[in-house]
Amino acid sequence: MIAIDFAGKNALIMGVSNEKSLGWAIAEQLLAAGARCIFSYQGERLLRNLEKVTAGQQNVLLEPCDVTVEADLERLFAKISSEMGSLDMLVHSVAYAPRASMEGRFIDTTLEDYHTAMSISAYSLISVTRHAEPLLNSGSSIITLTYYASQRVVPKYNVMGVAKAALEASVRYLAAELGPKNTRVNAISAGPMRTVAAKSIPGFTAMYEKAAQTAAMKRNATQEEVGKLGLFLLSDLSSGITGEISYVDAGYNIMGMAID
Ligand code: NAP
Repeated sequence: MIAIDFAGKNALIMGVSNEKSLGWAIAEQLLAAGARCIFSYQGERLLRNLEKVTAGQQNVLLEPCDVTVEADLERLFAKISSEMGSLDMLVHSVAYAPRASMEGRFIDTTLEDYHTAMSISAYSLISVTRHAEPLLNSGSSIITLTYYASQRVVPKYNVMGVAKAALEASVRYLAAELGPKNTRVNAISAGPMRTVAAKSIPGFTAMYEKAAQTAAMKRNATQEEVGKLGLFLLSDLSSGITGEISYVDAGYNIMGMAID
């Protein structure tokens, strides 16, 4: 049996709202394996949630950071430098698109909403990785969270699908640039999961049920399964894998047609 031991390893996890968050599912695995984790959160509103989910955990630091604010990024990475010295793992689990851009027709996407979705959901991976680069140890691993609407049209996903396509392309470019430094960059493409972000997608409940009916395994994947894939991609077990989009969706994406 191969045991993953992250004792002495440092991780940054960005984008945990509560215990349902995909970022938390991954963080739980990292904490169980002994990693020291710093969580960044957007705004004081989320601090109490984070304090609740991390209560009783050793090795935890909490730091505010809005990924669109350069000064926040500078402060966060200065804190990581002074408190941890270096980073081995980075989990980017941040996305946002204004609800109006997901309610209407894609063709009506405003430039402002396009910029917002792209800036938070795609560009932030680039800026966060740039800030992290000087702190990354050899053998470090970065992961982000994406969704199948980057590859195929999913109703109402609209500009978020376009942002996820940009995010996935960014994974490949970052992986190519950081590969020679022995840093890997990958994305997890998760099936639909009930989280705060999912609630803002119009018609999510119907989509969630339809996905389970269509998937090869006739169910949806779980947060825990996302966490386990995260653990694999962040560990040395995946040392030869970079620039990839790995699906954890109970086999939804392989289906060309639903079979009753
Ligand atoms: P979540 O718990 O709501 O996590 C999303 C996080 O992004 C929230 O903590 C949110 O903070 C944060 N965020 C938004 N704008 C930010 C900003 N400007 N700066 C810093 N943080 C910001 O939802 P989730 O479903 O776990 O989402 C995590 C990732 O998984 C996202 O990339 C999402 O697209 C992806 N994903 C989700 C699903 C699904 O079905 N749930 C499927 C595939 C992929 P606030 O709460 O303050 O906005």
